[in-house]
Amino acid sequence: MKWEQVMGLEVHLQLATQTKIFSGAANRFGAEPNRQACAVDLGMPGMLPVVNELAVKYAVMFGLSIDAAIGKRSVFDRKNYFYPDSPKGYQISQFFEPIVGEGSFTIPMPDGSTFPIRITRAHLEEDAGKSVHDAFAGQTGIDLNRAGTPLLEIVTEPDFRTAEQAVAYLKALHSLVTTLGISDGNMAEGSMRCDINLSLRAEGSDELGTRTEIKNVNSFRFVERAIGVEAERQRDILEDGGRIVQETRLYDADNNETRSMRSKEVANDYRYFPEPDLLPIIIDETYIETLRATLPELPGPKRQRFVQHYALSDYDAALLASERTLAAYFEAVTASCGEAKLAANWILGDLSAALNREDIGINQCPVTPEALAGLILRIADNTLSSKLAKQVFEGLWRGQGSAEDIIEAQGLEQVSDSGVLEAMIDEVIANNPAQVVQYKAADEGKRKKLSGFFVGQIMKASKGQANPQLLSTLLIKKLDR
Ligand code: ADP
Ligand code: MG
Repeated sequence: MKWEQVMGLEVHLQLATQTKIFSGAANRFGAEPNRQACAVDLGMPGMLPVVNELAVKYAVMFGLSIDAAIGKRSVFDRKNYFYPDSPKGYQISQFFEPIVGEGSFTIPMPDGSTFPIRITRAHLEEDAGKSVHDAFAGQTGIDLNRAGTPLLEIVTEPDFRTAEQAVAYLKALHSLVTTLGISDGNMAEGSMRCDINLSLRAEGSDELGTRTEIKNVNSFRFVERAIGVEAERQRDILEDGGRIVQETRLYDADNNETRSMRSKEVANDYRYFPEPDLLPIIIDETYIETLRATLPELPGPKRQRFVQHYALSDYDAALLASERTLAAYFEAVTASCGEAKLAANWILGDLSAALNREDIGINQCPVTPEALAGLILRIADNTLSSKLAKQVFEGLWRGQGSAEDIIEAQGLEQVSDSGVLEAMIDEVIANNPAQVVQYKAADEGKRKKLSGFFVGQIMKASKGQANPQLLSTLLIKKLDR
C-alpha cells in the first residue's frame, strides 16, 4: 500500500522580553542555575502573577503578521500537571480563548515555489524549569531559571505532507519572528522548539490516521531526520497489520530513532480552568492598528519586492529576504553599485561562504556594503574577471583597502587591450604549429574543444588576467583565418 504522511507542527517560541511573563526576574539564557527565578517563578504561596505587556505586544505582532484574527479578549488558564521542574503544580497557559486565532502563512520552498499552510492558533504561556541530569552523579538537579520565560505556542493545521515542507515552514517562521524582533530564534539555546505530530494514511484517503507527537526537536536537521524515522516506524507497524498508539515520543539523535515517552491517553486530563489570579487581556482596535502601522517589512512581501524590483530569481530573493540584516546589506550594496544580480550572486556566494568559514553573522562582516559595491563595479566594467575578482574579494575581507587599492597594489587589472591580447595569441599560435594543424583539420564540433588548449596557454602567459570573452573572440578569429 502507498502511504501518505500527514503532519501538524507546534512550535514553542521564547519571546525576547527583558523579564519573565508573570514576574520581574530577568529573562536571559545561560545564568548560573536558579539565579534568575524569583518567588513568583518558584510558585511560592501568596505570590501573584502580573502579565508582561511586552509579551502581549509580541504575540499581537505575530498575529498581525500572519493575518490572524486577534482575540479582543483572551484569558489565561491553568493547565494542571505535576512535574519536578514546574513547582506550582500547574502551568499558566491559554486554552479556551487564545490571543491569536486562525491565520495563514505562505512558505517559500527551496525550488522557488510556495505553498500555503493554515495556522490554527497561537497562545501565550509560561515555560517550565529544567531538570539537570549531568550536574550530580546519580541525582537530578532542578534549575528554575527558565521557569516563567514567556512562550508563544504556534499551532498549525495538519497541512504538511513532506519533511521538506516542515523544515521550510520552520525556516520561514524563524525568519518571520527574527524579522519582527520578537524572539532571538536561537534553536540551540531552545528559543524555538518544535513538536511534530505525525500520522500516516492510505494515499487517497481523507481521514486522518492515529498520530504520535515527537516532542522538542531543536534543529532543522533533526526535524527532517525525526520525521523520516518516525514515518518509517509507523509504516512498518501498519504494514504488519498493527495499529499506532497515540503517544508522546522523543527523538534520540545519537541513535536516530524515536522512543515512547508517555501515552497520551493517560497524560491528557489537565483539568484546565481560568486562572483566578489574572484578569482577561482586553485589546482594542486602536491598539491593533497602531501596532500594525509599526510592523517592519515582512520576509514574504520583501521577497516579492526583490523579485519585482531587482529582477532576482525567487530562490535568491527568498534567501536574501529571510534575514533582516542580510536583506539590508543587499539593498545597501545594490544602492551603491546598481548591479542587483551581481550583488545577489556575490552575497549569496563568496560572501556567505566566507561568513560560514569564519562562523560569523552578516552583522560582523568585515566587508562593508560600499566596499563590496566597489568590487562589483570593477567586475561590471570588465576590469576584473571573475577569477581576479575572487582575489580582490579576499583582499577586501582581510582589510587591505578598497577594490581599487587592491587591484593597483597587486596589479590585478584584467587585460582587455586587444592589441596586447593579439600579440599573445600570435605568439602561442607560432609556438604550437602541430596544435594549429590539428585544429584546422577538425570539424566544427571538435574545434571548440581544441581551442581550449590555446586559451589555457594564453591565460597562463597572462597570469590569468586576459579578459576571457575578448580573448576567445580574437583567438577564434585568428585560428579560423
Ligand atoms: P493536542 O491538544 O493533543 O495538542 P491538537 O488537536 O491540538 O492536539 O493538535 C495538535 C497538533 O497536531 C496540531 O498541529 C494538529 O494539526 C496536529 N494533528 C492533529 N491530528 C493529527 C493527525 N491525525 N495527524 C497529524 N497531525 C495531527
Ligand atoms: Mg500539543
